[in-house]
Amino acid sequence: THFGFTSVSINEKESKVRQVFENVADNYDVMNDFMSAGLHRYWKDELLKMTGVAPMSKVIRRRASMNNYESSTELDNKRGSGFSILDVAGGTGDVAFRFIDAAKCEERAKSSGLDEIAVTVCDINPEMLRVGESRARKRFGSALLDDTRALTFVEGNAQYLPFEDNSFDLYTIAFGLRNVTDVDMALRDAYRVLKPGGRFMCLEFSHVTNVPLAKLYDLYSFNVIPQLGQMVANDRDSYQYLVESIRKFCTQEELVKRMEVGGFEEVKFTNMSGGIVAVHEGWKP
Ligand code: SAM
Repeated sequence: THFGFTSVSINEKESKVRQVFENVADNYDVMNDFMSAGLHRYWKDELLKMTGVAPMSKVIRRRASMNNYESSTELDNKRGSGFSILDVAGGTGDVAFRFIDAAKCEERAKSSGLDEIAVTVCDINPEMLRVGESRARKRFGSALLDDTRALTFVEGNAQYLPFEDNSFDLYTIAFGLRNVTDVDMALRDAYRVLKPGGRFMCLEFSHVTNVPLAKLYDLYSFNVIPQLGQMVANDRDSYQYLVESIRKFCTQEELVKRMEVGGFEEVKFTNMSGGIVAVHEGWKP
């Protein structure tokens, strides 16, 4: 019953992935909590901390030509000229919402209506975006989406992003890269849309480095997760896919190499939870 992608063409992978996320969109958030025992929240919180996004005085931006960091105090208060963040494969908005909270965009939408950061969620799947947008309206109110436009949702493929070159200060992708058909293409396009001095950050399942933990993790993912998918969402196959896509995805070191080939500099990774997930980051010179 294990379906692999070895004998399946690239376009079939894309439509399979599309199908999976269409199936899970409505249950996605509940299932995430359920299957990771809430851990995905912690991992996303850690990613947020690493980005340094916070109210204006603390937002970290790197000067293109220098090797040090500067605090972006002179950020201009207009969308497009503030700190622009692109969250690719952003799904139902979990990562984007953390940026909005951290930069206190909601408060500003109520008072001055101006924002120092602009977050764009881009996902290939309109169903995931639909769930994300309605969550955003409930959580932050509509001003943030319709007036200040601190948060926008855009349909698009990580391999051919619908944005101009040199547009963003920060590119994030959480639990998305392994779903993309051609990872190298996605890395190249990430590089393209980042401004010089922009930063790439990827949170993704990775490879467990500790042997006893790896055994337990295998047991859990191959036996428990598909079963839970069946019981809770009545959808074994989608969750089976998730588990297999994790196994097939490249190791920490391989991803570092691929990012370097894609042109990123100062590439490094940080394991979390024994390598169950890792954050990879690099800079566009
Ligand atoms: N980032 C969100 C989070 O952490 O909760 C969602 C992660 S979800 C596991 C993976 C997302 O990747 C799905 O919403 C799916 O539609 C999206 N996706 C898959 N292939 C994609 C592609 N080629 N381009 C953009 N998004 C893609």
